[in-house]
Amino acid sequence: MAVSKTFGAEAVRQAYAAGQRVFGENYIQEAVDKITALADLPLQWHCIGPIQSNKTRLVATHFDWVHSVDRLKIAQRLSEQRPADKPPLQVCIQVNIDGGSTKAGVQPEAALELAQQIQALPRLQLRGLMTIPEPAADFAAACAVHTQARRLLEALNAKGLGLDTLSMGMSADLDAAVQCGSTMVRVGSAIFGKR
Ligand SMILES: *Cc1c(COP(=O)(O)O)cnc(C)c1O
Repeated sequence: MAVSKTFGAEAVRQAYAAGQRVFGENYIQEAVDKITALADLPLQWHCIGPIQSNKTRLVATHFDWVHSVDRLKIAQRLSEQRPADKPPLQVCIQVNIDGGSTKAGVQPEAALELAQQIQALPRLQLRGLMTIPEPAADFAAACAVHTQARRLLEALNAKGLGLDTLSMGMSADLDAAVQCGSTMVRVGSAIFGKR
């Protein structure tokens, strides 16, 4: 996924011309403006930023995927507000995999319950987990954290969840993420340059 936050529609068009189809955005209103301006292109849009209750309708209406769901209330609103003429919204649960107390994301111990609740919502399709770990000191440290996320995904699948997506790895740690089980890296500055 190419993370195009803070870059304009023209930068996304250039990436599209180079073959990129999947884009991620953090800021909902900025994203909606870009999605609207680029409606002539066959792009897939992923919401990867924090979602407040008053923004769920915009997310449900304009995005194909959302990676940053960490509360049932947000998931319920997204399901209720997903337009009937669109396929189910594809969802990842954001997990606070390295335990920072102030960080977004559900605690790993709470992921199973939230996953089961989301699977029961009619207009969402639960696909997997998303993590944003703290920057790691080196490759081995990054890999250790990414491996914890992979094990959590495997544990959920052992309970029958059937998840296929592990959204982890950014510009600084994408090699370690891929080696340790990521199925989708989210790459911003390494593609578009410094923000
Ligand atoms: C900005 C951002 C990225 C991309 O980060 P880079 O370091 O620019 O690759 C990936 N994931 C999330 C959630 C982000 O906010």
